[in-house]
Amino acid sequence: MGKNLTTRSEDYSKWYNELVVKADLAENSAVRGCMVIKPYGYAIWEKMQAELDRMFKETGHENAYFPLFVPKSLFEAEEKNAEGFAKECAVVTHYRLQNDPDNPGKLRVDPAAKLEEELVVRPTSEAIIWNTYKGWIQSYRDLPLLINQWANVVRWEMRTRLFLRTAEFLWQEGHTAHATKAEALEEAQLMNRVYAEFAENFLAMPVIQGTKTESERFAGADETYCIEALMQDGKALQAGTSHFLGQNFAKAFDVKFTNNQGKQDFVWATSWGVSTRLMGALIMTHSDDNGLVLPPNLAPHQVVIVPIYKGQEQLEAISQVANEIVKDLRMRGISVKYDNRDTHKPGWKFNEYELKGVPLRIGIGPKDLEKRTVELARRDTLTKEFVAKDEVVDRVALLLQEIQEALYTKAKNFRDSHITTVNTFDEFKEVLENKTGFISAHWDGTSETEDKIKELTKATIRCIPMDAEQEEGTCVYSGKPSPQRVLFAKAY
Ligand code: AMP
Repeated sequence: MGKNLTTRSEDYSKWYNELVVKADLAENSAVRGCMVIKPYGYAIWEKMQAELDRMFKETGHENAYFPLFVPKSLFEAEEKNAEGFAKECAVVTHYRLQNDPDNPGKLRVDPAAKLEEELVVRPTSEAIIWNTYKGWIQSYRDLPLLINQWANVVRWEMRTRLFLRTAEFLWQEGHTAHATKAEALEEAQLMNRVYAEFAENFLAMPVIQGTKTESERFAGADETYCIEALMQDGKALQAGTSHFLGQNFAKAFDVKFTNNQGKQDFVWATSWGVSTRLMGALIMTHSDDNGLVLPPNLAPHQVVIVPIYKGQEQLEAISQVANEIVKDLRMRGISVKYDNRDTHKPGWKFNEYELKGVPLRIGIGPKDLEKRTVELARRDTLTKEFVAKDEVVDRVALLLQEIQEALYTKAKNFRDSHITTVNTFDEFKEVLENKTGFISAHWDGTSETEDKIKELTKATIRCIPMDAEQEEGTCVYSGKPSPQRVLFAKAY
């Protein structure tokens, strides 16, 4: 089977779309902007979920589930949040269909079944959750409330891309309530660090932690923290966000508590989320012109074994060795698939697993049986080596670790070499024309300047980096004073 992938240098965006479909991760559906996540793609998402879920629980959170629909009166209660999401809301107005008297065989909305109050399909769940928290929180003893929900949300996006931006997407959303501002701020920052750690250790994707500018902030938040990653085409991707919501939702839903001095106060809030966009981030960070490259920590199969044989007798002899290796690998907690299907040739299988990004491939042929060796092939470097059969499990365990680290290092080197520091607007524009990536530049802190730069260059402020040194300077566009550099980029 030929892969026939468009190469990244030919057309990066086409390469991405083809890869998602050919590697069997997802496909477009009959619904505009909504995708079908296929089993192989979903298996990767499940691995992400499992690890994130573990990290959330380790930091004291519990899972719960809230309704898909938000009554419009609740949705509009926090005005900024409502205003920010209004343009992307799907709204349920009726609850019944009936036969259409004018069109036999067709259905229409039953005009008599109009809802008294319209229901917004959640684009995010603060409203329904804070309306619920009102009944759960009375005293400081009820705090902190640390809850996460795994769910789907709908945002009626106009320009959609598989995984990166879809109208319906899967995500988790944490919603926490606290007695003090300091505690809520600490929670929002903690969860942003959890995201950063997950991105780096599991996706092998380096990220920059920072805060968003006012115009990029979540609607209804007082501060938005984020992790920003750089894709291989030099465009940035917002990979996760964590919001400090102040007392905005508590005030909108009248959620007060009695503090330990007996006084009433509004509750402080955070919310934080990552979505199936992470799948897009994973694909775009590591994959190459031969297909997907998966970090071992997220690969559904870390190892695949392919027998190379003629005839049933050879297959049986090879299978015996293969099954021993399967058993030993599983005992070490390594996931492995033995592909002994006789419907496909070895060459076809090699191609298939390269396309699907399986980190290690073991080939076993008749010569290997004689020599008691196997051939071990690495997906990331496309290098091969022969290994004694008795040493293969140790070697695999070591290589998986090495691959995980190598992918991170490679991505980090790429990212670091695509951050350019500029001091004038001419340099700024020149960088955008020649070399893409992050641009580190001084900014005067105003939305006007930010908008103007966006209008002129399409680059936006991705974040104000958190650990950056305070270096005073002058804004690249306005020449006004600036307390520190911020990161600009063209973004997904
Ligand atoms: P937000 O609630 O806007 O802060 O978004 C939470 C997370 O969902 C962020 O990591 C976003 O990058 C991601 N996200 C936002 N919109 C979409 C979308 N249309 N498709 C996939 N992921 C999204």
